[in-house]
Amino acid sequence: MTPQARRQLRPTGKLLQEDGRRHHRALLLQQLFRHGPASRADLARASGLTRVTVSDLIGELVGTGLVEELGAPATSRVGKPPTLVGLAPESTHIVGIDLSPDDRITGAVINLVGQVKARHSLELAGRRGADAVELVSRLAGELIAMTDRPVLGIGVGSPGVVDAQGTVVDAPNREWTDVPLATILRAELDLPVFVANDANTAALGEHTFGDTGDGGLMVLRVGTGVGAGLILEGALLHGHRAAAGEIGHVVVDPGGQRCACSRRGCLETLLAVPHLRRRLAEGDPTAVLTGVGEQLGAALAPVVGTLNLHELVLSGPQELLAGPLLEATDRTIRARTMPVIGDELVVRTSTLGDDVVLVGAAVLVLAGQLGVS
Ligand SMILES: [Zn+2]
Repeated sequence: MTPQARRQLRPTGKLLQEDGRRHHRALLLQQLFRHGPASRADLARASGLTRVTVSDLIGELVGTGLVEELGAPATSRVGKPPTLVGLAPESTHIVGIDLSPDDRITGAVINLVGQVKARHSLELAGRRGADAVELVSRLAGELIAMTDRPVLGIGVGSPGVVDAQGTVVDAPNREWTDVPLATILRAELDLPVFVANDANTAALGEHTFGDTGDGGLMVLRVGTGVGAGLILEGALLHGHRAAAGEIGHVVVDPGGQRCACSRRGCLETLLAVPHLRRRLAEGDPTAVLTGVGEQLGAALAPVVGTLNLHELVLSGPQELLAGPLLEATDRTIRARTMPVIGDELVVRTSTLGDDVVLVGAAVLVLAGQLGVS
């Protein structure tokens, strides 16, 4: 049974008690994850749980190794100083996999605080369909063998539309249609597996490890394709058919270039890296980047305005996105939205660089297994 399915069950009797306990455990882990070491008294205050419940749950977490006793803080006053406890970042590792690059699949062993401990990748060499699935399984297996710690789970950021069960509904570049990737990997590797769209995964990575707030975040991934992930009110937006954020195939230039999806002038035909590089080779770089930034800003202004987003993060090749393109996007959105929307809007590039999908994949596991993000 998938963890998602387990959460959706209507709890009864004993299960209710165990669900409550899991929820309380997640509250404490979230507090330690977000705010660092704390005493049991601090945790009781912050969580609203009783001291007895906190001590009981922390005892259990110390027993599993996820939480460790850290002793007394150096600055404590006279009297018996409180003992601090903290998340043990190396107690268990996570395997994160990024399937978004065109030519290879890449992965990492990541600790509980999002630090990459080891990296590994395999060339795709034209593999598609079932062969590509097999390669993902092989990469995951080889990454598991690279750590001597227990593995909490496997997170995968995949191109295409991915549903809540981790089935890739449609990923044309991999020739995947209704591929139950999470179920396949779970059966082969006997570990919890979480699969999500790569742009959604990037948004989770940026939200958890990229210093963002809770004011509404859009991460626009610019690579071979273009897609976005949205975090609103602290939660990932999925949409009616799990395709929220698929802005790459919104037409912005009806008479424009033919797109892979058969329409003309999709945002992707302006902004995707291969298209952008070709335009740059043909014209003045600053003028090209400014022009594309203005069109991007015009496409995003209604989204930013409708959702009153706080942050818009562009993720992709820094040499293309930072500079004239980012400035023109920022300027255009501000010019086309109310001051109350534009005044505090932050438009920037990602601080996590190429690792954003990998650490986001780790967040899929952290959220799914420990309830922290
Ligand atoms: Zn298109």
